[in-house]
Amino acid sequence: MLTLVTLGYSWSCAVYPYKPCRSCRGFGSFRSPLLRAIRLCRRCNGTGRTLRAGRRAYNTCLRTRRSYRDLRDRDRRDDNR
Ligand SMILES: [Zn+2]
Repeated sequence: MLTLVTLGYSWSCAVYPYKPCRSCRGFGSFRSPLLRAIRLCRRCNGTGRTLRAGRRAYNTCLRTRRSYRDLRDRDRRDDNR
């Protein structure tokens, strides 16, 4: 059952990697109450969306695996020399 939940969660993170930004509630910008200026949300750079925690973990996992592979390839090239 736990496997199913984990699978479902990773699937949903793969399909819907973004969630509405918590700072601006998905608007991407703030309207200042004093000045009538609109400024972009710093957390999401004005997109109104942030990566979900699961997707971030997935990206980190991908990056570590890639760097590990690069390291291994470099080691192999060193061996050939
Ligand atoms: Zn935002």
